[in-house]
Amino acid sequence: MNHPTVVIGAGIAGLLLARGLAALGVNVVGVEKSRGFGGRMATKRVGEASFDSGAQFFTAREPDFAAVVAGWQQQGWINNWPASPHRRWVGCPSMTAVPKALAEGLTLLREHKVTAARRTASGHWELEIENQPLLLAERVLFSCPVPQALAVLAAGGVRLPESVAPGLEAISYHPCLALLVVLAGPSAVPADGVALSEGPVRWLADNVKKGLTQNSPAAVTIHASAEFSAANYALPEAEIAALLLPQVERWLGAAVVSTTLHRWKFSEPKTTHPERCVWLPELGLGFAGDGFGGPKIEGAAMSALALAQVVAQHPQSAS
Ligand SMILES: Cc1cc2nc3c(=O)[nH]c(=O)nc-3n(C[C@H](O)[C@H](O)[C@H](O)COP(=O)(O)OP(=O)(O)OC[C@H]3O[C@@H](n4cnc5c(N)ncnc54)[C@H](O)[C@@H]3O)c2cc1C
Repeated sequence: MNHPTVVIGAGIAGLLLARGLAALGVNVVGVEKSRGFGGRMATKRVGEASFDSGAQFFTAREPDFAAVVAGWQQQGWINNWPASPHRRWVGCPSMTAVPKALAEGLTLLREHKVTAARRTASGHWELEIENQPLLLAERVLFSCPVPQALAVLAAGGVRLPESVAPGLEAISYHPCLALLVVLAGPSAVPADGVALSEGPVRWLADNVKKGLTQNSPAAVTIHASAEFSAANYALPEAEIAALLLPQVERWLGAAVVSTTLHRWKFSEPKTTHPERCVWLPELGLGFAGDGFGGPKIEGAAMSALALAQVVAQHPQSAS
């Protein structure tokens, strides 16, 4: 029996990769450590309020991605951010809408955290998965942040060829502290959000004005800057809230009911790999995601499409 091609991670890159390969007739299985799909395209509920806690919107600059995005719009999965004068796309009703739709029809195993990947004597892959049986794979394609992929390979004793190891090891990510704030009354945050280039806060948006949630007066996502997030990452939640809230007081405009912190250890890559993806046919091992070719959702998507194409050119062996 053929072992499947396993895609690790079901964020936008992993889902597009799995879909691309499945459409080409490849036997593909996705494994995702979380309960939901989408990775950093994430929506979090706090009581009655919903927040886009990770990516806030996306843009489509490359014609190939713009064509994909036009399809998503036709399906009703995305919309223009209503209040924004820029061409910014948001999920309908939230950023997880696209990943949820892309996951339809794929073989995806949730709550499957891959802890080690090792090569077997017969040249296959053996994946160790937390609290699950071993999963055998013919090919392994990582779509998670590169440091996470390298940790899984290191745990399996895999040594990458010298031709690719330094390039992969050079990819690192900024952290981002995301504070999700429920307010007692409407906020004073402009409907298209606030982007700040200086200080501890880099972004805030009101998810009620964005159209995510109707049952709360205001649900504000605050993203700390990369510098603040790195310096204060491990502080207790209350201390982080106490440092960030005074910075944005003038935009809150109502009493704070609750705060919830999400710590994104891997937010956006500091630098990206020069190639769109990395594929090692001799090992049946590939890498895609926003660490390759270009950052953000667009970069992650384009990287996945590139890896799907190149992997599909190497047919699975009959084993
Ligand atoms: C706070 C924040 C704000 C952002 N703002 C924007 C924005 O406004 N616009 C924009 O375009 N981009 C933004 N981004 C970046 C954007 O979200 C990412 O570039 C994009 O979503 C990356 O997709 P991906 O599929 O490459 O990775 P991810 O979304 O990280 O997906 C990787 C998946 O792999 C899973 N995984 C990891 N390790 C394992 C394992 N061992 N086993 C199984 N599964 C595993 C993870 O759970 C995750 O679901 C933002 C990101 C953050 C965090």
